Amino acid sequence: SSGSEENDVVVIGGGPGGYVAAIKAAQLGLKTTCIEKRGTLGGTCLNVGCIPSKALLHSSHMYHEAKHAFANHGVKFSNVEIDLPAMLAQKDKAVSNLTRGIEGLFKKNKVNYVKGYGKLTSPSEVSVDTIDGGSTIVKGKNIIIATGSDVKSLPGVTIDEKKIVSSTGALSLSEIPKKLVVIGAGYIGLEMGSVWGRLGSEITVVEFAPDIVPSMDGEIRKQFQRSLEKQGVKFMLKTKVVGVDSSGAGVKLTLEPAAGGDQSTLEADIVLVSAGRTPFTAGLGLDKIGVEIDKVGRITVDERFTTNVPGVYAIGDVIPGPMLAHKAEEDGVACVEFIAGKEGHVDYDLVPGVVYTHPEVASVGKTEEQVKTLGVEYRVGKFPFLANSRAKAIDNAEGLVKILAEKETDKILGVHIMSPNAGELIHEAVLALQYGASSEDIARTCHAHPTMSEALKEAAMATYDKPIHI
Ligand code: FAD
Repeated sequence: SSGSEENDVVVIGGGPGGYVAAIKAAQLGLKTTCIEKRGTLGGTCLNVGCIPSKALLHSSHMYHEAKHAFANHGVKFSNVEIDLPAMLAQKDKAVSNLTRGIEGLFKKNKVNYVKGYGKLTSPSEVSVDTIDGGSTIVKGKNIIIATGSDVKSLPGVTIDEKKIVSSTGALSLSEIPKKLVVIGAGYIGLEMGSVWGRLGSEITVVEFAPDIVPSMDGEIRKQFQRSLEKQGVKFMLKTKVVGVDSSGAGVKLTLEPAAGGDQSTLEADIVLVSAGRTPFTAGLGLDKIGVEIDKVGRITVDERFTTNVPGVYAIGDVIPGPMLAHKAEEDGVACVEFIAGKEGHVDYDLVPGVVYTHPEVASVGKTEEQVKTLGVEYRVGKFPFLANSRAKAIDNAEGLVKILAEKETDKILGVHIMSPNAGELIHEAVLALQYGASSEDIARTCHAHPTMSEALKEAAMATYDKPIHI
């Protein structure tokens, strides 16, 4: 291993932030070691986050379509069944193939990989308790902290990963629960709720706030919530979980209105706690070398990802900014570019956000509420998928595109899409915002017909002029 020899870069954490930083550093000719305690690379995202959840979202969607949509297309069969172990096994296979793929990329790029728990003992030294029970010292001129985040617990709710599960447990339930209560209406709760709802669970989402997914454009959110309700998801908003009793066969939750008032109870077979995520720095030794953290435990960095301790950097979920895998990756590349003496840049205002339910909701830039707060005069262009020929052809026409542009210059400020595959459609808009495009730029760009992307072009037309098809 890397023991005595000094590295140019040592990365603690092998998630999307850390492993991407390590590969990029090696590509830039820096001698690099990555330390990961999990035993597999890819972090939260690959092992218990983005990837396994998308695998199950796809599998459960196929079942749901087979049951409820295929007949409309004239595809009939006598019986559709769920083989849950097979469904979970396909997810596990996807995960293990991908984690091994990153190990392969490490070898290809000559990134040294140390499996173990890293602790900072100085600004240039990490002591590692290795997975095989030993220990080793890894030295580096630059150290990047990419230790990510962990499930946020709720007071009075103890996660046992059996009846009261985090997203991790919800990715591996051994049976389809009859009643699943989801605490927290963020994107993780809605995605996992969708998975089990499609497989037959009765889903109730309890949320303290008055709205689901707080970061979403209000108008889109309303339609999104209605769509989920049509699918059978029940929402209890402005509601607080004050107690959870799992001593019986199922789980009994005690609820209270967020503003206070009479308590009520709710029964569940399984409770999913998805009330957010919190930066993970346990046992890292930050206090030992004096790395500053903020009130909520995030490592404080400047625009070059440098902490207050020279030579020590931090990226990804453990620092402020959207807690998303692609943001962590961008951080990782930019951070390493700075270390290598180049320039790097990540614009947190242009990080797309996607909720991978059905329909998906994807957005980039500002919501209408944010634009109002800015006080700029703006125009809104909207186009419903009901008027999009491809969406009608495939009988999947729920949702809309909404574009916000500055009134005076027509510069695009934000784009919001609710539709199947919105997470793919959004990137045209991300690029447009990145290039400072106007809505007219999109409207005058030739889009292939018939595609869902044409809805974006028409919404752009609607922003400064009139659309054709509505
Ligand atoms: P992490 O991925 O958390 O990786 C940090 C790694 O560091 C971990 O593997 C950990 O074991 C390791 N580590 C920590 N401390 C030490 C130590 N002291 N020594 C050695 N190793 C250590 N984001 C999206 O963009 N799209 C999605 O669809 C999406 N879906 C999600 C679904 C779920 C259910 C969850 C939970 C998250 C999802 N996310 C998604 C969020 C995404 O997973 C995170 O934003 C992303 O993983 C952050 O990357 P990171 O590298 O900063 O940290």
